[in-house]
Amino acid sequence: MTPKPFQPPQRILMGPGPSDVHHRVLSAMARPTIGHLDPQFIVMMDQVKSMLQEAFFTANALTLPVSGPGSAGMEACFVNLIEPGDKVVVCVNGVFGGRMKENVERCGATAIVVEDEWGTPVDPGKVEAALKANPGVKALAFVHAETSTGVESDARTLCELAREHGALSIVDAVTSLGGIPVLVDNWGADATYSGSQKCLSCTPGLSPVTFSDRAVETLKARKTKVQSWFLDFSLLTAYWGGGAKRAYHHTAPINALYGLHESLVMLHEEGIEHSWTRHSMMHQALRAGLEAMGLGLLVAEGARLPQLNAVLVPDGVDEALVRTTLLNQHGLEIGAGLGTLAGKVWRIGLMGQSATPHHVTTCLAALEAALLAQGVKLPQGAAAAAANRVLLV
Ligand SMILES: *Cc1c(COP(=O)(O)O)cnc(C)c1O
Repeated sequence: MTPKPFQPPQRILMGPGPSDVHHRVLSAMARPTIGHLDPQFIVMMDQVKSMLQEAFFTANALTLPVSGPGSAGMEACFVNLIEPGDKVVVCVNGVFGGRMKENVERCGATAIVVEDEWGTPVDPGKVEAALKANPGVKALAFVHAETSTGVESDARTLCELAREHGALSIVDAVTSLGGIPVLVDNWGADATYSGSQKCLSCTPGLSPVTFSDRAVETLKARKTKVQSWFLDFSLLTAYWGGGAKRAYHHTAPINALYGLHESLVMLHEEGIEHSWTRHSMMHQALRAGLEAMGLGLLVAEGARLPQLNAVLVPDGVDEALVRTTLLNQHGLEIGAGLGTLAGKVWRIGLMGQSATPHHVTTCLAALEAALLAQGVKLPQGAAAAAANRVLLV
């Protein structure tokens, strides 16, 4: 076979991430590569840092994009803060909480798991009981926006509980940042990580992380070396830390950072509060359309994430065939259920650039056609009409 350039198809991305990437971000990434210690590059790094502080609502000095996907940001938080022998309360109400537990154990620490049913938020009462029953817990770890189920947990209350019990809070904000409020300083969150490809609508591969002063003190007071050389923040901050003098740690993903910079500029231009409102509006429109088709959501009202909608698959419908039809006929990607929810839900993402009226109405029309093709009885055109009633107010 003669190697040929890869031409990906044009898709509409409405799954659990990545979301659609604006051409401004893609073209920013095609700008000339310069050195990672070039003075002009350092100017751009400082701008990325201050725009991330703005997005996280924090003044934390240690705020940087880790060179790796959201999972690398997750791992960075655990390896920098957790040492062998520590105890960590981990909230598990979906896939990503389970990964946090895995991280804790790989750090040689003990995970005290607080479980909640998939599709429900973390129960602060159970967390408080676990913190009380286990004095000396080093950290409380939880997922703010559980992408596997579409649930939001009460980050403010959980961070408060951690602080009251002398524990650090480790917060997964991969799917929340840009879509719903992530108020790091206001919550008193100690270690918060996100991802570039969800509501920030950049390409995958970067993970914004921010550490409070309390987290930085914990890192400085470690008895053992951070087990990961690559993710060791005491080394990384020599590159990302302020000032003109920067030490080589690893070669930064230069062009990927141009992309993140552009997506943060776009978020700033829109205004983050406007972005939250837009996500909420599009969710209301999608929900209205789904309900008009007789489709329900997994998560109870009040805990639903606007940016990730877990839709219950009606009895007798081949859920995988629906996804294949959407992809092949409409170029539209939605997500499948994971774990215990496999086969039971579709996951429709409305993240970043994928949270627009066009995405909502396109998805509803495609879903309606796919369900009709399987013989589902539904009022034709009702979904679009219901969505438009929300969108046109
Ligand atoms: C997507 C996601 C991750 C992992 O991010 P990757 O970029 O896929 O490594 C972690 N946590 C949550 C809640 C996510 O949605």
